[in-house]
Amino acid sequence: MHQFPDAKAVVEALAPDEPVILTRPHAAARAAQFFTQKFPGKAMYAVKANPSPDLLRILWDNGVTHFDVASIAEVRLVHEVLPDAVLCFMHPIKTASAVREAYHEHGVRTFSLDTMEELEKIVAATGAAQDLNLLVRLRVSSEHSELSLAAKFGVDLVDAAELLQATRQHCDALGICFHVGSQAMTPFAYIQALEKVRAAIAEAAVTVDIVDVGGGFPSIYPGLEPPALEDYFKLIEHHFEALPISYSAQLWCEPGRALCAEYSSIVVRVEKRRGDELYINDGAYGALFDAAHVDWRFPVAALEDDLIQPLEEFSFYGPTCDDADYMKGPFMLPADIQAGDYFEIGMLGAYGAAMQTRFNGFGATLAATVTDEPMASLYRGDRRDTRTSNNVINLR
Ligand SMILES: *Cc1c(COP(=O)(O)O)cnc(C)c1O
Repeated sequence: MHQFPDAKAVVEALAPDEPVILTRPHAAARAAQFFTQKFPGKAMYAVKANPSPDLLRILWDNGVTHFDVASIAEVRLVHEVLPDAVLCFMHPIKTASAVREAYHEHGVRTFSLDTMEELEKIVAATGAAQDLNLLVRLRVSSEHSELSLAAKFGVDLVDAAELLQATRQHCDALGICFHVGSQAMTPFAYIQALEKVRAAIAEAAVTVDIVDVGGGFPSIYPGLEPPALEDYFKLIEHHFEALPISYSAQLWCEPGRALCAEYSSIVVRVEKRRGDELYINDGAYGALFDAAHVDWRFPVAALEDDLIQPLEEFSFYGPTCDDADYMKGPFMLPADIQAGDYFEIGMLGAYGAAMQTRFNGFGATLAATVTDEPMASLYRGDRRDTRTSNNVINLR
């Protein structure tokens, strides 16, 4: 892949008709090192956030050894790219053949479940294997997160004891996992969930070997500036250690977004301007799914030297013929931006580059590597300290 200093150099060299996905390997490497060095347990990467083989290798090279996979295709992909990686099949609804293939052909030993039926399926498909790590997924609140994962999966607390006791009979290590929702804006989300874990363990009276706090660790976007990740880690560790679990119990997490959001951005071109609406060459069916469907505000930066006017609010239309291909924003760009100008949309490494389709004949993108910094970073140490804000609770 071609390497450039930054997005401007890409536009100067290529004057691209198509959008260009820019990747920043150094940003993903830094995020991986941060989690492997600072999270007080094991950090596994949730592959669905961005399954790019290049990214998987960068994370592996920087200390990430465990991968949260959710489909048999993800199992095959990671096993092929990283044959020595430990795979954890964390989707609570799997087909019997997926469990069978994962266990017998790819060495998967860790599975999650939230029903008795899934437990029976796993036991049957692995031939009642004696070496399973089985994690019961608990339903927890998503109220502190930007994207909910609460409706779909997880056993309710009232039914958890029975499922934990039954699961204990069929595994080598028993775990409890949950997901607080994506982009959790306060560590309190995890504390609340860990209190539910405590109640479930007390009710079931089983020995728990693994507590997996899932994903949800945030990145930075306009209007969404979270507290420092160290605060999340400190509070999770404190509340994990106070649980009624064995001394040797392990703490796991499954970050997706936080490990890869800074990895990619995209360069787009304005094809038409209509007032404060810009028609651009990527959109809802490309890398900007969340911008269209949940009004996510990604950061933007103009790339032309002669754009001099103050920033104004714009919304975007994507290239397809569909009215839903609309991104409300607001996105802040120079007031004199016009057709033919390029700009960069940042922080698209998670749930951005991974979401592209070819709907309506659009979606082809070029790719380049750049060496400059992402538009925002949780890992550079130069952020405003938000610990004085009122959405953080202090330990003491
Ligand atoms: C999506 C998902 C993750 C990653 O979530 P992020 O919010 O991206 O950190 C982790 N675990 C499971 C089970 C998931 O479904």
